[in-house]
Amino acid sequence: MKKITMAVLLILGSACLAHAGTTAGDGQKEITNVTRLAFGKLDDGREVELFTLANSQGMKVSVSTLGAAVTSLWVPDRGGKLADVVLGYDSLDGYLRDNSYFGAIVGRYGNRIGKGRFRLDGREYRLSLNDGENHLHGGRAGFNRALWLAKPLANASGPALELTLVSPDGDQGYPGTVKLTVTYTLTEKNELRIDYEGTTDKATILNPTHHSYFNLSGDFGSTILDHLLRIDADAFTPVDKGLIPTGKLVPVAGTPMDFRKPTAIGARINVPCEQLALGKGYDHNWVLNRFDGKVRDVAELYDPRSGRRMTVATDQPGLQFYSGNFLDGRAEGKGTAFQYRTGLCLETQIFPDSPNQPSFPSATLRPGKVYRQTTIYRFTAE
Ligand code: BGC
Repeated sequence: MKKITMAVLLILGSACLAHAGTTAGDGQKEITNVTRLAFGKLDDGREVELFTLANSQGMKVSVSTLGAAVTSLWVPDRGGKLADVVLGYDSLDGYLRDNSYFGAIVGRYGNRIGKGRFRLDGREYRLSLNDGENHLHGGRAGFNRALWLAKPLANASGPALELTLVSPDGDQGYPGTVKLTVTYTLTEKNELRIDYEGTTDKATILNPTHHSYFNLSGDFGSTILDHLLRIDADAFTPVDKGLIPTGKLVPVAGTPMDFRKPTAIGARINVPCEQLALGKGYDHNWVLNRFDGKVRDVAELYDPRSGRRMTVATDQPGLQFYSGNFLDGRAEGKGTAFQYRTGLCLETQIFPDSPNQPSFPSATLRPGKVYRQTTIYRFTAE
């Protein structure tokens, strides 16, 4: 806790208030609620910065330019008490050594690509392998390892941070130079809104996602098994032992994957079930209902202890629910060693391995087209 307090003091003491010129007419106003501070240096001397956005409801989010990672997210409980609800490290060093993708924007392809291979327009591409024989979250040096260029903004709905990355042709084996912009906005409605916009100069695939580990209790010594989860999905994509989808869409009805009604995560996580055994718990993609390219509410997470509720809204077809099964106490921060299932991810995405599954929604991006995603994590308390 000590280091966090120090970081806050640093913000108050030496923060430079970000100011961008007012640009009348496009909903922009003077930026007064974004602070920035030095977070450390990379081996090559480049500076990493930490930006903090605050809204007038007391919510705060900090984002590092390394990996465009959310490092903390302060959210009120039912009594108005703020707590940090995402797992994270105390310093840049933790993020440099991270293997869990804490808070990061992952890509180019969030989730797995079987054997790290795919064909596009008659050519086979081979990607860097970093998960046994498979490719995970963009490979060995994915977007989570990149230093993003940051620009604070003030848009009509709240303070925002625009982060941009250029991924060169051939990066991790992917074709095309991809330019991706991710904008985090902390709205006055207590939403963390994430807008993505990507382009390419050659046909490629793009499927970035956000990888915060949430524990709405703010008590990282407790697991997320008592959180209630609802996912608006009638089907999921079962996986093989490498967690690569088999290609089938299987109804959730009558299985422990049925979260159509709010259900405690721990209620069925240990029942004998082939899919839960393969995932070592929940680590699957749900086929979200009502997919038509527009943003709709798709999931809800509720912590009965604090009363915090998080609603996930997205325009994506899929949602990976990962119950923190690989957390084992090795990652440390915020006064604790993060143990088994003390955080969970809700990653909005196109389905895993879709480049090898013709029946899945396509992740192909062509020159002249724009990749877009909007995902919103909305916080309330009751
Ligand atoms: C995946 C897990 C993986 C984790 C990496 C999640 O998105 O679904 O299988 O272990 O990321 O920390």
